[in-house]
Amino acid sequence: MDRAGKCRSVLPRCALLLSFVAGVVAAAAPVSNDPAQLIKRAESIEPSSHAEFNELMRRLDEAATRLSPQQKLHWRYLHARQIAFAGNFDAALPPLTAIADQTADPVLAFRADANVIDLLVAESRYEEAFARLDPLLGQLPKMKEHDVRMQGLGVAAQLYNEASQYDASIRYADQIVKESTDAKNACRGWFYKSAALFGSGSAQLPADQLHDGAEACGKAGDTLFSLSYRYLLASFDMRHGRPDLAIRLLQANYPKVLRAGFPPQISEFEATLARAYRMEGDLVSAAKFAKSALATNINRPYSESTAIAYQVLYQADKKAGDGTGALANLEKYVVAEGGYQSRLSAKALAYQIVKQKVLAKKLQIEGLDKKNRILTLQGELDRKAAETSRLSVMLLLLVLASIAVWTYRIKRSQLRFMKLARRDGLTGIFNRQHFVSSAEQQLRYCSKSGREASLVLIDLDHFKEVNDSHGHDVGDHVLKRAVATCKAHLRSMDVFGRLGGEEFGILLPECDLDQVMSRVEQMRAAIATVSVGKDVSDVAISASFGVSTVTCSGYDLRQLMKDADNALYRAKREGRNRVYLFERPPVQPNLV
Ligand code: GH3
Ligand code: MG
Ligand code: MG
Repeated sequence: MDRAGKCRSVLPRCALLLSFVAGVVAAAAPVSNDPAQLIKRAESIEPSSHAEFNELMRRLDEAATRLSPQQKLHWRYLHARQIAFAGNFDAALPPLTAIADQTADPVLAFRADANVIDLLVAESRYEEAFARLDPLLGQLPKMKEHDVRMQGLGVAAQLYNEASQYDASIRYADQIVKESTDAKNACRGWFYKSAALFGSGSAQLPADQLHDGAEACGKAGDTLFSLSYRYLLASFDMRHGRPDLAIRLLQANYPKVLRAGFPPQISEFEATLARAYRMEGDLVSAAKFAKSALATNINRPYSESTAIAYQVLYQADKKAGDGTGALANLEKYVVAEGGYQSRLSAKALAYQIVKQKVLAKKLQIEGLDKKNRILTLQGELDRKAAETSRLSVMLLLLVLASIAVWTYRIKRSQLRFMKLARRDGLTGIFNRQHFVSSAEQQLRYCSKSGREASLVLIDLDHFKEVNDSHGHDVGDHVLKRAVATCKAHLRSMDVFGRLGGEEFGILLPECDLDQVMSRVEQMRAAIATVSVGKDVSDVAISASFGVSTVTCSGYDLRQLMKDADNALYRAKREGRNRVYLFERPPVQPNLV
């Protein structure tokens, strides 16, 4: 019947609640009525110091009107703890949860949260407790206060133990031992560590751990943790098949456990003593302790110690031949064991559910993260593409603008070159080639429309002498003045060009002979009276003119030039500074 006879032992499941009730009763140092002092003291002492704690709370209640908002929050927190100490977990949970979830003070929120987790486990609300554990541990690195850290690490070590996550539990237990500054907390760390080893199925404690744990818990005095540590050692003895050693250890500490007065711990001692005596064959003592355990556990029908007690009673009745009693105890054992086992499974299941939920949430967050990263990258790519196409357009526009500018400049230079190619460099009027092509164009036009036109050739008189006597520069100047003087008598449609040296040609379209002769005469007179500047006022210039008309010479430019040149030659010959019109000599009658 004792299916786990060799190793089964009641694990100190009451340990979690020890955080509420365990502790060294601190020597009551006098505390002033200052609310800050009262709060500090109340927060530092363990709830097992009922009397002092209650007294501090009474004084704080009296000072309630003097409390700052922050102090009021601490006061509410302490009140909630006071309610929990009194065993009213249901009533303590709402105010502690509110402080844990809403207060802006991270330390107070952490403390309240650790209490909430303790109470949730005490209430068998494992899923809620495990769901709070991860966020609480996330805050742990930020907690610098020693007491607060101890509280957080303790919750972690205990809760992982509850969830059968022994490696994690040992990690936090080790941390408690490492950070502890007093024997009380060191003992607590050793207790958690040893409990985790026991839970994981270890046959016995390593020697060094046994030594260090015993030393720390010995120094801590008879705290509930140190008593539970001793109970744990007895549990290892039981697993080893040494009930005699377990009985010795448990009996030696039983009176202290009774004095400490914590029912879950008392029942664990009693149930294990019952089992140990039964194994030793002392059925009377076994039944006595089993009954004590049941009496202590009156309010905890589904604890492991209750199940063990009924099991022992069943075995004792059976051995004594009391079939009815045996059957009744067997039934009760089955119910208690079933209830206890289902609580264990509920615990493990709750832990797995929370773990899965956290994992699912993490995966979901990672999924969202990835999605966001992809969207961000996509956005970045789009932005870059838009930027690139904007740059391309700008580059294209720049190229087009450069092409336009260069085209314009090239065109302008072309035009300038063309103009230069058509003009005489000194005087700016048409050069010979352009004069010839323009004059021919005009003549063609006049020829088509049957209009009149005349050609005038001009040659400056004795120009060589001007150069010789005044220099080439003055000669150039004279040439420019002569041109300007002629221009003043010309219309826009007249074609004026320098034919070479000091010779010029003018084609006068749509002008009858009288008008031509009159205008040429005006030009001659103007040149003859022209002043060529201050420095050379004594330079007398004149020009000779030869005129030919289309009426006499036809529309052919070469002919017109030849005839005008004849007239010019005559003007020179006749004494210069004059105008001659070419006239064809009359045709001689055939005298034959
Ligand atoms: P005529 O009255 O018989 O025409 O006498 P002329 O001295 O003008 O005749 P000629 O044709 O012998 O002399 C023309 C001179 O014009 C010769 C040359 O030195 C000068 N000449 C030609 N082109 C230029 C020029 O661009 N600048 C200057 N300063 N002189 C020029
Ligand atoms: Mg000449
Ligand atoms: Mg001349």
